[in-house]
Amino acid sequence: MKIGIPKGLLYYKYHPFMETFFLELGAEIIVSEDTNKAILNEGVKCCVDEACLPIKVFHGHVASIKDKCDILFIPRIMRIRENEFICPKFCGLPEMVVNSIADMPEIIGTPMYADSDKNLRKWAMKAGRRITPNILKIEKAFNKALIAQRQLKVGTKDEGYEKNVLLVGHPYLIYDEYINMNLVKKLNKLGVGVITEEHIEDEHKDAEVSTLYKKPFWSFVRDSYGATLHLSKNEEIDGIVYLSSFACGIDSVIIELIQHNNLNTPMLLLKVDEHSGEAGFDTRIEAFVDMMERRNKIEGNISTHG
Ligand code: SF4
Repeated sequence: MKIGIPKGLLYYKYHPFMETFFLELGAEIIVSEDTNKAILNEGVKCCVDEACLPIKVFHGHVASIKDKCDILFIPRIMRIRENEFICPKFCGLPEMVVNSIADMPEIIGTPMYADSDKNLRKWAMKAGRRITPNILKIEKAFNKALIAQRQLKVGTKDEGYEKNVLLVGHPYLIYDEYINMNLVKKLNKLGVGVITEEHIEDEHKDAEVSTLYKKPFWSFVRDSYGATLHLSKNEEIDGIVYLSSFACGIDSVIIELIQHNNLNTPMLLLKVDEHSGEAGFDTRIEAFVDMMERRNKIEGNISTHG
């Protein structure tokens, strides 16, 4: 049995769980290649125009492996935390893909409530039965997948740079070097260290989110807004680089919240879509780094003469 796993969306955060689970069930796994031009072009061709770039790229990953596997895993991730949701596009992802791409193999699109081990186990029992009727084997595969997932360290925290920025955005933009055009390497080359939200303690993010008028029900809001406000208020960063996708409704809320409440730290907003060009991207990053340097010099002069 060959199970296809597209290397898109939350694969970047949950690949140890996905891969270990199916491997332990005795399946062979076919993971798509890193995002490349062919995958992007195919995704743009088969997906609806209105979709955001990460969803189009996901379609490209599916198209690249659909003929190589018996069953395709399309993670319908509903929740990663209690009482929160991810994004409406994740809830309908299997239907979106099946209706956009012709000649699809069978799919596993069972809803995943990953807000507790108990709920995730329910997913494992349903999905696992598509591969084997052996409940004990599914139970064992699930436990091993959980252990593998817990060993994964996600996130970046550079050390030894004079200037540091918080790089904010969805994991599938931050960790897909093709989509983000090697943003972390570009910043490092300009002498700027990068930290990502995974290195901010949950209690700090929760504390920031708790000051909002209403508790946000999207997990991305808590992660991005909470981390940004915490680091900005504590002056632990020189700037914020927000990497976003055109047509992302959730980002428009997060960005508005950050701009409204962050009064201290300069922010560069980079929006990507399938037409984004690297030259314009580089110019904006360089200008932002120049601005951070001038700002630091001015503040240094003021405190020296003050
Ligand atoms: S959160 Fe935004 S970028 Fe991510 S899938 Fe939803 S709309 Fe697309």
